[in-house]
Amino acid sequence: MEPILVESITYDGVCQECGAEAKWCGVQALVGEELRWDVESTCPACGSALAVCGGDLPDELRGRLLSEHGWATLQVGPPTRNATVMRVLRAELGIGLDGIKAVLEQVLTGQYSGTLPEMEFLARKLRASGVDASASRAGD
Ligand SMILES: [Zn+2]
Repeated sequence: MEPILVESITYDGVCQECGAEAKWCGVQALVGEELRWDVESTCPACGSALAVCGGDLPDELRGRLLSEHGWATLQVGPPTRNATVMRVLRAELGIGLDGIKAVLEQVLTGQYSGTLPEMEFLARKLRASGVDASASRAGD
């Protein structure tokens, strides 16, 4: 079992019930081979609690995570099995044949990037297919 990878951020927002200032906490987590996210807040003024999760990661939360924690890149170590890498990435990213070459090029040159849980998610899928893959963040 792979360890759970969690990336979180706390930011100032307002309560959706009463409009008071409230702290919001956003989380993206890689649990096993599943990416999850949620955003939650408990209002100090009215006690109202809100939690949102499910579906695709919202762009706003993704942007906050990336600006707080920075971009991570996906690396595949030699010997690279390009056909396998392309097959896994196509399956996981839902990219067509025409787009996958550009993505593969980005991966091979260390340019393919996203949040750390997103990159580790792909690295785990690749490792499960026998590809030596890892995710890392500049500065880690
Ligand atoms: Zn409130």
